[in-house]
Amino acid sequence: GLLGDGAPGPLPRTLTRRVHVGPVAVGGGAPVAVQSMTCTPTQDPAATLAQVAALAEEGCEIVRVAVPSADALDGFGEVCAESPLPVVADIHFDHRLALGACARGASALRINPGNIGSWAKVDAVIDAAGEAGIPIRIGVNAGSLDPAVDAREDLTQPEKLVESALSFVRHFEGRGFPDIVLSAKTHSVPSTIRTNRELSARIPTVPLHLGVTEAGGLGPATVKNSVALGVLLSEGIGDTVRVSITAPPEEEVRVAWNILQSVGLRRRGPEIVSCPTCGRCRIDLMGLASQVEERLRGVEAPITVAVMGCVVNGPGEARAADIGIAGGDGQGLLIAGGESLGSVPEGRLLDALMEEIDRRYGDGPRP
Ligand code: SF4
Repeated sequence: GLLGDGAPGPLPRTLTRRVHVGPVAVGGGAPVAVQSMTCTPTQDPAATLAQVAALAEEGCEIVRVAVPSADALDGFGEVCAESPLPVVADIHFDHRLALGACARGASALRINPGNIGSWAKVDAVIDAAGEAGIPIRIGVNAGSLDPAVDAREDLTQPEKLVESALSFVRHFEGRGFPDIVLSAKTHSVPSTIRTNRELSARIPTVPLHLGVTEAGGLGPATVKNSVALGVLLSEGIGDTVRVSITAPPEEEVRVAWNILQSVGLRRRGPEIVSCPTCGRCRIDLMGLASQVEERLRGVEAPITVAVMGCVVNGPGEARAADIGIAGGDGQGLLIAGGESLGSVPEGRLLDALMEEIDRRYGDGPRP
C-alpha cells in the first residue's frame, strides 16, 4: 500500500523538551505554535503594536520583532509592555542588543551564534537569558553560516546547516542552558526537509522551529512552505512554524494556519470547501467563493462551508458540510445541517448564506 515502504510512523511530538515563550508552550507535545514577525520600524512602537494586534487577530501566537540597533531598544521595550502576544527579540551581530532586550521584557531571544562574534559574547547572552528566565532560539540560516563551516567542500548544504546547528546546541547545553528552540533555514524545500529530518534524528529532544525562508511572494512562498512544512509536520517533526512571505505578515499567519489545518494538526475558523468550477457551472462561483472567504475572515467557529458550482457534487458536499450552497441556473440551493432550505436567486446567495451562518454559529461574520 501507500505506506508499505517500511517508513516509520510519525515521530511522537512529545519527544522534544517543552519551553515557554511567555504563556505559549513550544515543544513537548504542545500544539504547534504559529509565529510571525513585524516589518514596521521597531523605533515606531505605535506602528509595531498596530501590526502585532493585526497579527494576533489572524491567530498569530508568538511575534518576533527586530532589534537592529541600540536606538530600537526603547521602542522594543514599549512593544513588549503593550503587546498581547509574547515578543521575541531578533538580534544579529551585537550581543549587547540581546542583553538590552532581556532587560526590556523580551519573552525570548533569537540569535545566530555564528554572527555574534565570539563564544564569550554568546555566553553573556546565554547568562542574561538564564537570569531573565527566557528561552533562546538558535537560528541558523544558509545565508549566514559560520564561514569555517560554509567553506567545507566535503559537506552538502543540509550537512553544513546540521553541523553548525549541532555545534551551537552542544555549546548551549554544555553551558547548562537547555531552554532552546532550534531553527535551520534555507530557501530550498529539499534542503529544509533533509536538514530538519536530520536534526530531529540527531537531537530529538530539542524543539524545532520550521520555516522556508526567503521564499518569495504570496503564491510561491505558500507552495514552498506548504510542501516543506507539510512533509515535516506529517512526520511529527516541528514544534512551531513561521512561514516567510514577501507580503504583509498577516498573510504568513493565514498560510501557517492553513498548513496546520491541512495536515490535521490544528483547526482555527471555518474551512471552505469549494469546487474548481467547470463548464456546468451557471453562477459566478469564483466571485462568490472569494466573497465568502472574505466575509468569513475573523469568524472563529470551526465550521465547514461548502460553495459548490452545480448539482453534480454540490448538494452532496453541502449536506456533508455544516452549511453550503449548490449552484443552479442563476440561483442556488441553500443547505444547512444536512437539510435543504430552498432556492435563492444568485444575487441574494451570498447574503442568505452569511445570514444563515450568523444565525446558526453565533459570533457572526463581520460586515
Ligand atoms: Fe463542475 Fe459542478 Fe463539479 Fe463544480 S460541482 S466542478 S460546477 S461538476
